[in-house]
Amino acid sequence: MGMNDLEDFRESVGESGPVAVVGGRTHWTVGGNPTDDTRLVSAPVGIDSFDPSEMTVSVKAGTTLKDLNEELSRYRQEVCLEGSSETTVGGALMIGTDGIRRNLIGSVRETLLQAEYVDAKGKLIKAGGPTVKNVTGYDLCRLLVGSLGTLGLVGRVILRTRPQSEKSVWLQGGLQPEEARHVCFQPSSLLWNGKETFIQLEGYGIDVDSEVLKLKNLGYEEMGTKCPISIPRFRHKFVNGMCLDGGIVDVYSSILYKSTEAAEPQHSNEVVRLGNKVRTMFDPSGRLNPGRDPYRAGP
Ligand SMILES: Cc1cc2nc3c(=O)[nH]c(=O)nc-3n(C[C@H](O)[C@H](O)[C@H](O)COP(=O)(O)OP(=O)(O)OC[C@H]3O[C@@H](n4cnc5c(N)ncnc54)[C@H](O)[C@@H]3O)c2cc1C
Repeated sequence: MGMNDLEDFRESVGESGPVAVVGGRTHWTVGGNPTDDTRLVSAPVGIDSFDPSEMTVSVKAGTTLKDLNEELSRYRQEVCLEGSSETTVGGALMIGTDGIRRNLIGSVRETLLQAEYVDAKGKLIKAGGPTVKNVTGYDLCRLLVGSLGTLGLVGRVILRTRPQSEKSVWLQGGLQPEEARHVCFQPSSLLWNGKETFIQLEGYGIDVDSEVLKLKNLGYEEMGTKCPISIPRFRHKFVNGMCLDGGIVDVYSSILYKSTEAAEPQHSNEVVRLGNKVRTMFDPSGRLNPGRDPYRAGP
């Protein structure tokens, strides 16, 4: 059954004409809109196999993160992809931005072990491998992460899973980011609103409790398991000394989250030339997500 779905997907992509996959549409305009003549197709849906002891899951790209995490949580595991209830696995990988818990759970790019995608010629290609240690050849499948569907249209992936944390807690207090970084041992998130820092601690209960105690002695207050501040949607690059303007800084990734969109990023000519060369190699006729440009997307 699983294989047939991929075959149907390959057929729907076909061998010619402009085409793009539509996921949950939550970040549809990132990198620009596809041209009006672009045919929109959907990726197949469903979890093919989940092996809790191997900590890997094979899942079709149109599956929502919500459905995937529901299944994984039955074994107290999760994947390091974040989004809203409509977000699809394929969309989260193609947007590719890391979340605020990256310090603990790793990057989106590292989560992807294998991808099966339809290339510009309409062929089904398998890149990467099902095991965590896989060191032969170019790391093709990870090149797809953040490519906004301009290099291939993804039908199925194998993702690395991780155990859910035994305990998770947010604290709020007055240390400045640099001080806070040195006080705690590997917090999973560290946010700053210009006045206070918000620290998320995760792990085994006993470890978390001792870190909590340390922070409480420094005047921190325990805020529960949910992030106590709302994080605005748009990502800006944060540089020390920058005015936060009501935004929230993710200290580990130097991203400033704001409610206004960032200006288009500037890249050097060399970077743009190399990016275009790779795109042309994957898609000589320019049929995959035409109009969309990963280099126009923010950080
Ligand atoms: C910490 C964190 C929190 C987040 N929180 C939220 C949140 O609260 N709400 C939210 O909406 N998002 C959130 N995101 C973003 C989220 O991870 C995804 O980037 C987003 O939801 C995209 O998924 P989508 O299915 O809606 O994709 P779409 O918007 O449908 O598509 C995005 C792009 O991916 C391409 N694409 C989609 N599927 C495929 C495929 N199978 N093959 C090839 N190309 C494809 C599309 O053509 C398009 O270019 C968060 C991200 C992080 C890191």
